[in-house]
Amino acid sequence: MGDACCGPSHDHDHDHAPVLAAGPSVALRIHGMDCVDEVAALKHALGGLVEPEALGFDVLSGRMDVPDHLDLDLVAARVAATGMRAEPWGTPTQQTWWPIHRRTVLTWTSGGCLVGGFATHALLEGARAAIGHDLGGHATPGVVVALYLVSVLAGVRLVLPKAWFAVRSARPDMNLLMTVAVAGAMGLGEWFEAATVSFLFALSLLLESWTVGRAKRAVEGLLSLAPPVVRVKRQGLIEVAPDRVVLGEVFVVRPGERIALDGRVSSGQSAVDQAPITGESVPVPKAEGDAVYAGTINGRGVLEVEATRAADDTVLARIVKLVAEARKDRARAEIWVERFARVYTPAVLAVAVAVMVLPPAIGLGAWSDWFYRGLVLLVIGCPCALVIATPVAVVAGLASAASQGVLVKGGSYLELPARLKAVALDKTGTLTAGRPRVTGVRSLACHPARTLLAAAAAIEAHSEHPIARAVTEHALAEGVAVAPAADIVAEPGRGASGAVSGERWWVGSPRWLEERGLSSPALDHALADVSGTVVVVGTEDHACGLLLLEDAVRPGASEAVRRLHDLGLHVAMLTGDNVATAQAVGAAVGIDEVAAELLPDDKLRAVERLEAEHGAVAMIGDGVNDAPALARASLGVAMGAIGTDVAIETADVALMTDDLERLAWLIVHARRTLAIIRQNSVLALAIKAIFVVLTLGGVASLWGAIAADMGASLIVVFNALRLLRA
Ligand code: ADP
Ligand code: MG
Repeated sequence: MGDACCGPSHDHDHDHAPVLAAGPSVALRIHGMDCVDEVAALKHALGGLVEPEALGFDVLSGRMDVPDHLDLDLVAARVAATGMRAEPWGTPTQQTWWPIHRRTVLTWTSGGCLVGGFATHALLEGARAAIGHDLGGHATPGVVVALYLVSVLAGVRLVLPKAWFAVRSARPDMNLLMTVAVAGAMGLGEWFEAATVSFLFALSLLLESWTVGRAKRAVEGLLSLAPPVVRVKRQGLIEVAPDRVVLGEVFVVRPGERIALDGRVSSGQSAVDQAPITGESVPVPKAEGDAVYAGTINGRGVLEVEATRAADDTVLARIVKLVAEARKDRARAEIWVERFARVYTPAVLAVAVAVMVLPPAIGLGAWSDWFYRGLVLLVIGCPCALVIATPVAVVAGLASAASQGVLVKGGSYLELPARLKAVALDKTGTLTAGRPRVTGVRSLACHPARTLLAAAAAIEAHSEHPIARAVTEHALAEGVAVAPAADIVAEPGRGASGAVSGERWWVGSPRWLEERGLSSPALDHALADVSGTVVVVGTEDHACGLLLLEDAVRPGASEAVRRLHDLGLHVAMLTGDNVATAQAVGAAVGIDEVAAELLPDDKLRAVERLEAEHGAVAMIGDGVNDAPALARASLGVAMGAIGTDVAIETADVALMTDDLERLAWLIVHARRTLAIIRQNSVLALAIKAIFVVLTLGGVASLWGAIAADMGASLIVVFNALRLLRA
């Protein structure tokens, strides 16, 4: 029984309560906080000082956030009263040997004395006498009792202060259940059982702290990727800490080294392994001008890199922050389990007392028999396996997703993909490569093609849209001189306009042309005649020409769509491009439903409609024009997040690479995580149920109950850790 249960654990009063303290807060490290029960105890202890909602907890890292106006000494004193200890976060813990190892030492002392006591007893009176619980029988030899007593004391040493706090605050928890069970067994003269329960309880706590530590290290290992020093070019090469580097400084990365900061290659060539951030193991070639990211691994070349981001602002640093925060957003299953445990523990105590008292009171058997059964119920009652199961699965699930280049923003978004019924995909940049090329320029008589191109490029030079990039690149390739443009106005989903050489020009979709009231039969004819993506170039009073573009379908897009179909999802495409192009792309990749010529708002409504028709919808997009739909969808997924800043922060899930197949991976992963959570809960409850029946039938023993419960806790934890193996 893991007791004490670890696990993120804020005692929740509302589903959407902000978990972290709002406003300025101070972080404290709480030694001894490994469990839901302890969070509840801390909230209770700080009761008069601060509203429980103003406190933030992260049990996995043993951290509590308190508002900074509090008197920290007072907080520390209140924390000490619970049997835990507070110290400022980040103070180098000058842990001496004892605090680190006492749990291990005490546990093995308890175990050693238990075995010693049993062996001595068996030698003196035979194994049967040693194991049998002879209620009211003859006394156990003194030396045996002494050994068992040491075993009990060592076993409950770390539990007692917490149990005592539970008594004083009248909040029964698992520590109390265990302590009462041990005391009761000693009261009955059942020394062997008292020692066994103490030892196994201590052992389960030890194993639990080890497994929780393992899940925690898996997350941290993922995140502690940036190297501690950078070789900066100042006068010669100097080694400094990454946070000492000034933006714009150039640092040198040797072959095989990890890159310390985000930056742009200023000289050298190499292939960089970006897997730590993107999960994509094929190295990416980098040359002058290319962006490189902190935490990625340089290949065979030497690179000189100009730092473009401070150490705490790199893509990696932001991933670290997000994963840390993701742990605080709890999955629904987790919230449910906590609520359950809060009612359940006191209920178990009440039932155990009833079992001790009622049957013998009406003459159904000996008091000592029923007292013993009540104790067994207390032990079985510990909901540990149940309480640990979910948080460990969620943390392992988040960590393994991050290692695959899928950044999930919270436990609740890890459950959602499993429930998806439909997926809406943006076209440009999501299904297509997002690198369109201009394949033709059609002038409609009033201006020469080069003038059109020059005007369009002047405006597009200010836009980030993939089409804009294509237009400016084409103008460059054609050697067209691009005039400066002023007063640029971007219209997401439509196009952009601006003043070029004193005249107002616009570049945008044929739909925008209609909205401007500039369509004409000649234009309609010209539009009907061309295929692919078409952009119209015009002035205030007429349309002057067309730019024709082509954007290749992403390799792997059809495969990704097929996998989504295999998973039973309805796949729709939402695009601002024209119907003909949209349908061509849709047919090429096997989309179920194509909606074209949509403005950003239309995409949002399309998502709402899909949700009404099918159920939970994921929207996957890459651009500003997708933002409303991403926000509205049950699950917003940003593509290719490594390059764009907004995407990492706005979506619920960010795919670090452009690889659409990661979405199907995420859905499978989410289903697996949910399945593991369910298996764990069923297993934990089933073991309880079996033991309740055995106990009431009078066949269960204390040590059998605790061994079963501990086994259940370990099974659920290891089951959850399977998620770390991707
Ligand atoms: P998608 O939904 O495929 O990502 P958008 O919503 O970004 O496409 O754009 C829809 C249409 O609006 C484009 O096909 C294009 O015709 C026009 N458009 C949007 N932005 C621009 C721009 N910067 N330059 C030219 N045309 C644009
Ligand atoms: Mg797009």
